[in-house]
Amino acid sequence: MKHVIVVGAGQAGASCVARLRAKGFDGQITLIGEEPFPPYQRPPLSKAYLLGEMERDRLYLRPESFYAEQGITLKLGAPVTAIDPAAQTLRVGDDVLRYDDLVLTTGSTPRRLPAAIGGDLDGVMVVRGLHDVDAMAARFAKGARVLIVGGGYIGLEAAAVAAKLGLKVTLVEMADRILQRVAAPETSDFFRKVHRDHGVDLREGVGLDHLTGTEGHVTGAVLSDGSTVQVDFVLVGVGIAPNTQLAEAAGLTIDNGIATDANGRTSDPHIWAAGDCASFPWQGQQMRLESVGNAIDQAECVADNILGNARAYDAKPWFWSDQYEVKLQIAGLNAGYDRIVTRRGDGDVVSHWYFAGDRLLAIDAMNDPRAYMVGKRLIEMGKSPDPEAIRDTGTDLKALLKA
Ligand code: FAD
Repeated sequence: MKHVIVVGAGQAGASCVARLRAKGFDGQITLIGEEPFPPYQRPPLSKAYLLGEMERDRLYLRPESFYAEQGITLKLGAPVTAIDPAAQTLRVGDDVLRYDDLVLTTGSTPRRLPAAIGGDLDGVMVVRGLHDVDAMAARFAKGARVLIVGGGYIGLEAAAVAAKLGLKVTLVEMADRILQRVAAPETSDFFRKVHRDHGVDLREGVGLDHLTGTEGHVTGAVLSDGSTVQVDFVLVGVGIAPNTQLAEAAGLTIDNGIATDANGRTSDPHIWAAGDCASFPWQGQQMRLESVGNAIDQAECVADNILGNARAYDAKPWFWSDQYEVKLQIAGLNAGYDRIVTRRGDGDVVSHWYFAGDRLLAIDAMNDPRAYMVGKRLIEMGKSPDPEAIRDTGTDLKALLKA
């Protein structure tokens, strides 16, 4: 009987095994994860779960019983330590398992601050897994002082939760503006204002020089402009690195992640990769996306290819972020944009549309699900509306889909 092993029991891993069964694969499936939990969703870790408004069980993508019912062997708390591509085997604990097809969905690891600047002090934390959030929950007490390093989505979401819970929040972003890597200045401006209105001390163009501590615990920070802040704990949100070590040690090609072809196959014919750890061909380079939508779609594409239903991965990027009462929804990729068209509704309803010449590339919609939905569909259809029609709030956006 054919055996598919999936390494990494997260969003992509869970999607891959579910798709294999849903599409009629009747061979053996093993899903192996190093964390002790069944596959769970990470987005709430910096949102509702961190805020204490979501039960742990609701994080799980499926009840644990699903895997047994589907005849999927779930091995948890079990890091895979080596792959032998020639023998088509892998090592997990003392066991050596043989596979016909292997899928790597090992995710990513947050970058940490170097120990030389105090990154190893107690109270300096990252938000990646359930363990991280459970360990920091008690620190989110009213009046506590937190320094957030990094003004990307995770740092900003954590800042929103902390401010909502009554903590004293300082956020530093080394770049000129928050969200610089991912969004237009207009979107940065929107979120800067929202955070400042909620009392966050948000400083841009200011990095962390080093942390200071007493008896191993972090107590303060010296910033790049020479100023100092007193802190009770620090959250670091300075990006992630794909988990490629296992693949690299097995001799697979690494290029901005575990390199795959359009079908999700790595440089070894029996090994596939999907999710945060994997890169795929896109406009002449290897692209890697860090999002739930990508993890699901890419993993399902790999499952289809394993089943012999050959198809190329057609990325349709989408993302979201919740901060305070603001819901941001993003569709498309804004790389290469040369202008922004803004559509303003009432109050905090606004959307920014990214164009390269006349071509619509992406949309950031704040509190505007309709604009998001229409923008996403237009991008997927390869349609580019007249920018004036977008700007004009009298335009019925849905009509643009038919134009
Ligand atoms: P993961 O879900 O991280 O799963 C990988 C799993 O592989 C992990 O459990 C890991 O322990 C395991 N693993 C690694 N190496 C081994 C090994 N050797 N052996 C066994 N197991 C191994 N995306 C959005 O689209 N919207 C959001 O709002 C959003 N918010 C986020 C908030 C937070 C706090 C975080 C951390 C991420 C957020 N993301 C969001 C990103 C999204 O969660 C990831 O892109 C997605 O989880 C990637 O799925 P994955 O399966 O590739 O990786």
